[in-house]
Amino acid sequence: MNKNDKIVIIGAGLCGSLLALRLAQRGYKVEVYESRPDLRKVDISAGRSINLALSDRGLKALRLCGVEEKVREICIPMYGRLMHDRVGNTFASNYSGRTGEYINSISRGNLNAILLDEAEKHKNVNIHFNSGCKKVDIENKVAHFKSYETGKKFKVKADVIFGTDGAGSSLRKSYISERKFLFSYAQNYLNHGYKELEIPADKNGNHQISKDHLHIWPRGDFMLIALPNIDGSFTVTLFLSYDEGEFNFENLTSEEKITEFFEKEFPDALALIPNIKEEFTNNPTGALGTVKCSPWSYQKKTLLMGDAAHAIVPFYGQGMNASFEDVVVFDEVLCHFERSREIFDWETVFKAYEKARKKDTDAIADLAIDNFYEMRDHVANPLFKEKRQLEMDLEKHFPNQYFSKYSLVTFNEEIGYNEAMKRGRAQDKALLNLIADKDISTSLEMTKKELKIVLNKVKEETEDILREDKIAGL
Ligand SMILES: Cc1cc2nc3c(=O)[nH]c(=O)nc-3n(C[C@H](O)[C@H](O)[C@H](O)COP(=O)(O)OP(=O)(O)OC[C@H]3O[C@@H](n4cnc5c(N)ncnc54)[C@H](O)[C@@H]3O)c2cc1C
Repeated sequence: MNKNDKIVIIGAGLCGSLLALRLAQRGYKVEVYESRPDLRKVDISAGRSINLALSDRGLKALRLCGVEEKVREICIPMYGRLMHDRVGNTFASNYSGRTGEYINSISRGNLNAILLDEAEKHKNVNIHFNSGCKKVDIENKVAHFKSYETGKKFKVKADVIFGTDGAGSSLRKSYISERKFLFSYAQNYLNHGYKELEIPADKNGNHQISKDHLHIWPRGDFMLIALPNIDGSFTVTLFLSYDEGEFNFENLTSEEKITEFFEKEFPDALALIPNIKEEFTNNPTGALGTVKCSPWSYQKKTLLMGDAAHAIVPFYGQGMNASFEDVVVFDEVLCHFERSREIFDWETVFKAYEKARKKDTDAIADLAIDNFYEMRDHVANPLFKEKRQLEMDLEKHFPNQYFSKYSLVTFNEEIGYNEAMKRGRAQDKALLNLIADKDISTSLEMTKKELKIVLNKVKEETEDILREDKIAGL
């Protein structure tokens, strides 16, 4: 491999545009092909999640590429969850007891635009829009495209091809259809889909509910969430079963039924969504699924990254963060080989990258499913609330000694997702056991000395559980 290799990236979404930028910064020549029009010129946001939660792993990747500050300018910090019950009462739960740990609401389109701008500043990057990849001849490294401007088909021969074309990846489909190697693939859909709605800004352009929080209306089998936008609006997302329960996407077909559902379950939100009927009817219902596959690469020819390799459900707010982190890990591997005196090829890099990365993307996929249940249900449970309050106190008083599972996943970018999952789950189990057995106090009045006793018990119990898990091979 060398810097004159022609690299083709399929998909200029969040992962593809950041990857193009990083490879260009390293001096590689990159041709990017994107099926949609240039989002900086045409509004194509409809039907895709409009805003996202960006956190420390994603920010680390943006820092690596020198764009963190630019991106931070369009971020809205969210310091915790604000839960809404059926009668409009709210209670807040911070994401961390430490100061300075928060997640950020950001517009997908604006973030993508920044990355495209930055990538295009490099002479060694060309981005071709309206070019949909139809299939990849992986043996000969030829990508087949259709131009959505002219309707014409065309082929591009490359030295190496990266598939960052999202959950429905054309490169991944080619791995399956070409049958050139043993490719394992699993796609699991949730029975829940999602639909986006909007709480507009008030007449002065201000947010109508707290913009410092991620709002959640947890209702057991379904939930509503809302993230703030810079223009004063909120993007509201309903997660609901397609066909189960009294209300579901299949039976919410009339204005009366939609209104009945929202009046019963989310009256305070309904009052803020003036166009509920039009939006509910016209906005698409999106599917939610997890993709796990391996290997991600084929010889020294192709590699899957981002959602194309590991799409996850959105409940940990980590899909984009994980896709950005892919770029960090790939860069570290590439840097390692470039600095070594060994002769290496793309295959060596691809294999080392997957070896370093796969366990972590598998872990965040599983954690994201766990959080589906936590957000729609457990957050309103008294035992869960007690546990979270205690965790806040432990983080506040012992900021260098206690990290909740959420904090390990979201704010500790130097720890891999797999390590965060193992430690976080053991700690959760320890805390819940100790609280249920009344072995530790959850009093809000505890002195620091008493809290220290709790901390030591939690640590001890966590280590015991981790030891047992290790023996059980978990
Ligand atoms: C409802 C919802 C909420 C989410 N919330 C969060 C969140 O809060 N935080 C978070 O971190 N993540 C979140 N995610 C996940 C996040 O959106 C994805 O993980 C992230 O977009 C992955 O980036 P990507 O570049 O791999 O894929 P994508 O963003 O899907 O980009 C793929 C790109 O490839 C293009 N493309 C597709 N097919 C082709 C083709 N055949 N030829 C050429 N181009 C093609 C697409 O047009 C697109 O531009 C959420 C996802 C959903 C669905």
